[in-house]
Amino acid sequence: MVKKNIDSEALYKEVARLMADRKQCVALTGAGVSAESGIPTFRSKGGLWEKYDPIEFASIEAFRKDPSKYWSLRGEFIKDYDRYQPNKAHLALAELEHVGIVRCVITQNIDGLHKKAGSKNVIEIHGNLMEIICLVCGKGYKAPHIPDGMPPHCSCGGILKPNTVLFGEELPVGVFMKAKEESASCRIMLLVGTSAIVQPAASLPYLAKQNGAKIIEINIEKAFPEADYFIIEKAGTALPRIVAEVNKFSHE
Ligand SMILES: [Zn+2]
Repeated sequence: MVKKNIDSEALYKEVARLMADRKQCVALTGAGVSAESGIPTFRSKGGLWEKYDPIEFASIEAFRKDPSKYWSLRGEFIKDYDRYQPNKAHLALAELEHVGIVRCVITQNIDGLHKKAGSKNVIEIHGNLMEIICLVCGKGYKAPHIPDGMPPHCSCGGILKPNTVLFGEELPVGVFMKAKEESASCRIMLLVGTSAIVQPAASLPYLAKQNGAKIIEINIEKAFPEADYFIIEKAGTALPRIVAEVNKFSHE
């Protein structure tokens, strides 16, 4: 059987034209975006959760019982974190925000690379691994400037917790509310490097679509059948190509 040759150049042109026309674009990103920066997923083969039980070390229940257990493994979580740099996908999204097309990035990643790449309006729905928060007074600390101690304590005496969503923990209400508002009011949603099957983030593309947004999926495998456009490609390849097409329009 002869497979129909999809004209990818036409697809990129059409997607870029749609983005340039509609603007008000929200990007929902996941692990696939950070993979190209070399960040391993804890769940993948050889990842941290093959060695350690996540429920024992990184669940909210375990943390409440004995926070030092999480802190004893903290070094493994953040190993090499200073070394990781934003890749072409992060930079392209920052560029698209800069030219007024992307309005907001909603990310499931906790590595902070979107901000590092220059994106300004970033909603980190699972938090940020380098941010630490006091469970008593809410004071924030930023790694590596964390008080000593096992577990470390805030200047007020409260126990410090990573500002990430642990297993079994609810997403912060305000943060997720903001993500829902952005999704319900955008005109385009880019799904990038995420299978978007884990709730509650999985509800966001549906929310966007119900409110009239077009969905553009950029993934190495199709994951969201309801998308209007599929670009089956690595994010670090596809997004710079979109930026290049968008730039052509602005010079016409
Ligand atoms: Zn405190």
